[in-house]
Amino acid sequence: MPARILDGKWVRDQIFTSLKPRIGRLSRQPGLAVVLVGHDPGSEIYVRNKVKACEELGIYSEKITPPPDILTPDLLGIIEGLNERPEIDGILVQTPLPRQIDSRKVLAAISPDKDVDGFHPLNVGNLVANIPASRACTPAGIMEMLRRYEIPIAGKHAVVIGRSDIVGKPMALLLLHANATVTICHSKTADLAAEARRADILVAAIGRPEFITKDFIKPGATVIDVGMNRSSDGTRRLLGDVNAEHVKEIAGAYTPVPGGVGPLTIAMLMSNTVDAAERHLCST
Ligand code: NAP
Repeated sequence: MPARILDGKWVRDQIFTSLKPRIGRLSRQPGLAVVLVGHDPGSEIYVRNKVKACEELGIYSEKITPPPDILTPDLLGIIEGLNERPEIDGILVQTPLPRQIDSRKVLAAISPDKDVDGFHPLNVGNLVANIPASRACTPAGIMEMLRRYEIPIAGKHAVVIGRSDIVGKPMALLLLHANATVTICHSKTADLAAEARRADILVAAIGRPEFITKDFIKPGATVIDVGMNRSSDGTRRLLGDVNAEHVKEIAGAYTPVPGGVGPLTIAMLMSNTVDAAERHLCST
């Protein structure tokens, strides 16, 4: 039987459909501020897509573009100003930030209640303790996808390859809270293929094009490909971390690249922003 394709656009549309009436019930538009420092082309595309999603949903968005040579204290001043504004529910600082900026300090300066990326240390603690709060968008989107496609998690063996703060670690914790037995792998893992082959749910968040081949996939497994890599053959095609041909032959279900995990990240950013607006309007 051919592997089932897990369609990220379908899940994103479902999430948007569920957000629209919630936004309609609020006494004002939710507000998202996006801070973009410098001119990284990838970041500019991401920010454009985030602003577009806000427009589609009727979320007020404000793009703030400080000069590329801004220093940490001045950026902290911008964040503090946004923390104070009642009509701004979510603040997102697009990373990577230029080298002269102390990124940790900047992310920690965002009010935890407006931290729609889920990167603030307090929200990381909330995730570890399984306390409701904004969760990192990409892993949260993957959980939505697994839920909406009714892929069983409890009691299953999940293997997450990658341990970054934005994908691998929060992914592993979310799967753990959903009662999977979780293995986290990284660049120092001995016999990565053997670990991966034990997975009922395999999440690849590595950043290496088509690194996961048939030797890594248990027949029938659900394979989630987080990777977004540009091919080096001159065509600049978007490639995942998983070999597209092999996964089709062996997996039970898989996310394609593009069109799998990608659309979910922005959908969950919108969802976190609406959650924050509901909290703020409830408490005023
Ligand atoms: P990252 O910070 O570079 O982390 C990569 C992880 O992969 C690290 O933990 C690293 O291990 C591990 N790794 C690297 N080479 C490995 C190898 N040969 N064997 C085993 N593990 C290896 O990357 P990230 O930010 O998590 O992103 C991962 C990928 O997801 C990238 O392609 C990125 O573009 C993509 N991404 C996509 C979305 C989306 O919306 N679809 C969102 C975020 C990221 P060590 O810790 O040992 O170095």
